[in-house]
Amino acid sequence: MTEPEDPSRDRLKHHFAQRVIHQARQILEVWQRLQQSEWSLADLEELIEANQRLLRFAERFDQVEHAHLARDISQSLFEVQANRGRLSSALITDLNRLMQRLSRTGLRHGDKLEHTSLPPLRKPVYVMLQDHERAERLAKQLEFFGLSAQSLDSVEAFNASLSERLPAAIVMDVDFGGNGAGLQLAARMQEGLEQKLPLLFFSHQETDTPTRLAAVRAGGEEFLTGTLDASSLLEKIEILTRVAQYEPYKVLVIDDSRAQATHTERLLNNAGIVTRTLFDPIKTMSELAEFQPDLIILDMYMPGCTGTELAKVIRHNDRYVSVPIIYLSAEDDLDKQLDAMSEGGDDFLTKPIKPRHLITTVRNRAARARNLKARMVRDSLTGLYNHTHILQLLEDCSFRARRECKPLSFAMLDIDHFKKVNDTHGHPMGDRVIKSLALFLKQRLRKTDYIGRYGGEEFAVVMPDTDLKAAYGVLDEIRRRFAEIHYPAQPADLFCTFSAGVVELGEYDDALMMASHADEALYRAKKAGRNQVYTVSDDFMQTRKHSPVDVD
Ligand code: GH3
Ligand code: MG
Ligand code: MG
Repeated sequence: MTEPEDPSRDRLKHHFAQRVIHQARQILEVWQRLQQSEWSLADLEELIEANQRLLRFAERFDQVEHAHLARDISQSLFEVQANRGRLSSALITDLNRLMQRLSRTGLRHGDKLEHTSLPPLRKPVYVMLQDHERAERLAKQLEFFGLSAQSLDSVEAFNASLSERLPAAIVMDVDFGGNGAGLQLAARMQEGLEQKLPLLFFSHQETDTPTRLAAVRAGGEEFLTGTLDASSLLEKIEILTRVAQYEPYKVLVIDDSRAQATHTERLLNNAGIVTRTLFDPIKTMSELAEFQPDLIILDMYMPGCTGTELAKVIRHNDRYVSVPIIYLSAEDDLDKQLDAMSEGGDDFLTKPIKPRHLITTVRNRAARARNLKARMVRDSLTGLYNHTHILQLLEDCSFRARRECKPLSFAMLDIDHFKKVNDTHGHPMGDRVIKSLALFLKQRLRKTDYIGRYGGEEFAVVMPDTDLKAAYGVLDEIRRRFAEIHYPAQPADLFCTFSAGVVELGEYDDALMMASHADEALYRAKKAGRNQVYTVSDDFMQTRKHSPVDVD
């Protein structure tokens, strides 16, 4: 039997590409285990070995990014070895950063193996609606949100695309290809898959329970009816395809005894928890602001002040009312323990403590606190940070930027003529526009930027490590793209624009001054006719204000 040209080479490529992915996954799995367990020498060895394999395969298959990461990981693991196999806060932080990058690293384009690689890749969303034109439009709008989407107009096209590449998610009309045929098509597709694909059903009309039941049985995770708008669809897709990112917990240990503190730190580091120790309780507030711990471990008796006094001081600051405080002390008088608890403490652990007991308590408390905080600082309509929190973040970032001598930019955005949107199309439509701008910003801005809902239809963005020119460029691009989105409405589709003011941290500014300057720039943008981005720096505006579309 004669074979076509050089098929073995392709097979080999395919094989290696899969090995690269497989190795990366294995490394991440070992690392993720740290969340539940404790670090051991066996873990270290397993990681080193898996990483060496990754490096070998990545080099052989010419996967530059994987090879690069494997080398960095190997360097960090080498440092762990030099540290007698123990993790430290710095090493946990470094390794975690590398692991996060590894989880985001896919194969090069054109390898046609993307579906085997690690999430979250920019895999496409397949959109199949009875109304093909609508599907086309929807796919285009999803693209605006930075998602890759493809509308498919026949069962054949669907099957062909599936065999080529598995999508990130599927939006399927229950009646695609005939009455109820979409349901069956989806059900058949899922049967052939080892891992089910996120599937969202759509029905033009409100449907009955049997149809919805069939959708659930076919593996549908969402059922959408009525007008299908891109922003709420995107929100659903985001939830369904999200991969949890592990951020190590951060614990501040306040203890005047170096030996005790070191011991606590070592136990926690060994569980993958990042720690910082403060021997001098007087510095607590600045340390809290800088480190932003998930939890505080407090000694009961220190020179200068007692643990309970310090707990009160911490609780006086609104910002730290919900950070759990755990006392760790040799005090075994139950009355005194209870007194301490009533002064803002959450738990009392007595020394000597079993490592497992300490680690479990810290993990549980920190997890709950994170969960709670995430809800407290977020706006419920958009999921963005709320007014108070975005200003706090601006303050934190301005301190950091000053210390590290890095630029920092801040922007305020306001939707133009928004009252008219509400008046003409109703409040729910207004809400939808607000949500869609929120999503649009999330998709388009860097992961290191902070986005907040400043007020009704006003937004604020904190952009660390970004100078005015870059910030202007990004925002103006977002402004232009946002203006292109249209929202299906009667009698005519709706378009919205926003105006923005952007400023950079100056030598004598603080957070509040930045906010007020940004507000002023925004006001000028509005006065100048809306749908534009303004800065307050005059020389910068000279070059920019007449050509807001002309960005480099
Ligand atoms: P301008 O271009 O000057 O910004 O005009 P505008 O109409 O957008 O500004 P104005 O501040 O006068 O009106 C904002 C409107 O936004 C008024 C308020 O009813 C509406 N709004 C505020 N919050 C929400 C919300 O959460 N949902 C909806 N649907 N509307 C909101
Ligand atoms: Mg407005
Ligand atoms: Mg307003």
